[in-house]
Amino acid sequence: MTQTESAGLYIHIPFCRRKCLYCDFYSVEDPARIPAFVEGLTAEMSLYRSVGFRFDTLYLGGGTPSLLTPNQAARITEAAHKTFDLSADAEITLEVNPGTATAATLSGYRSAGVNRLNIGVQSFRDRHLGFLGRIHSAASAEAAIRAARKAGFEHLGLDLIYGLPGMSPEAWKADLNRAADFEPAHLSCYLLTWEEGTPLHRLWQEGRRRPPPDALCADLFQLTGDVLADRGYVRYEVSNFARSPALQSRHNRKYWSLAPYLGLGPSAHSFDPGRSVRRWNHRRLERYLADLSAGRPPVADRETLDEEQRMMETVYLGLRTAAGIDLIDWERRFGRAARERLERAAEPMAAEGLLEPTPRRRRPTRRGMRYADGMAARICDQL
Ligand code: SF4
Repeated sequence: MTQTESAGLYIHIPFCRRKCLYCDFYSVEDPARIPAFVEGLTAEMSLYRSVGFRFDTLYLGGGTPSLLTPNQAARITEAAHKTFDLSADAEITLEVNPGTATAATLSGYRSAGVNRLNIGVQSFRDRHLGFLGRIHSAASAEAAIRAARKAGFEHLGLDLIYGLPGMSPEAWKADLNRAADFEPAHLSCYLLTWEEGTPLHRLWQEGRRRPPPDALCADLFQLTGDVLADRGYVRYEVSNFARSPALQSRHNRKYWSLAPYLGLGPSAHSFDPGRSVRRWNHRRLERYLADLSAGRPPVADRETLDEEQRMMETVYLGLRTAAGIDLIDWERRFGRAARERLERAAEPMAAEGLLEPTPRRRRPTRRGMRYADGMAARICDQL
């Protein structure tokens, strides 16, 4: 199979020192098993040697990829280069938990070929970090940012979380400004989600904590865009900001534009747009490794998206980005009549000032970004 659009390679590192209160990503609190995992991972890579994609991003996410030693990280990046057609100028990102990073490991990752770090700061207040169950303090987050700079990482992303119980707009504004003071290339600002099955969700069910009111979350969302715009950041996706288009996350843009990606590691998802097939790996590390020992791909299940699903995904993901939905691409994929339906469905939202129609696109306005999912639901109803 050949593919003209460059693909993304995602590797899920399923280890954490301790689970955070709000997290529903798959990870185990058992770093002693990392060596066995790295062996399994290289075996999994070999199974997809002939995948036929040309990759221009590699993203080590998790979990806590910064629990890898620099040697383990190098083993993974080298195996990726050896096994796949990974371009020489690929964006290679590693997610860092400040509680696990030292100047020596960050500098070791750089030698391993990592050229972009995403640091999970989440908050510059110890009280909030404590509530979230993070293993690090505000001071260690700041130390990790400084160490990353010292190690030569210019392309630095910071993650922050807002909408914690009791968080005032002033506190959130202070966090945003503190982050911007470090002049990272990229910022991701996520509204805290109370996912079912997490300890945070249980606190809510037991009546011990509850999410802030929607109106306050809307204000915080707006404040995020306003403060960061003043500091020179452009919101290019609902939760993501960059100082320039070149500093956006090349890897994450692949998910939003339905580009091909190959996900390796427990619970990782893959997508092949040429065949409209999405598949995902087993979540449990034991099952993942057992399949690989038996020479089998550790795939839990797969689905083939029909046309309606492809349209819905294009609308939902497109409206979360500042670029919006590309009408020419839409017409090429779904036909002229579908384009007319989409344009008609978008008209009321343009009249409400939520969507900006341009000859080529239907894209959310600054205000519309807040209602991206609601708009997508309204449009999909009319398709
Ligand atoms: S460090 Fe990240 S992946 Fe690990 S539990 Fe916390 S939020 Fe989840």
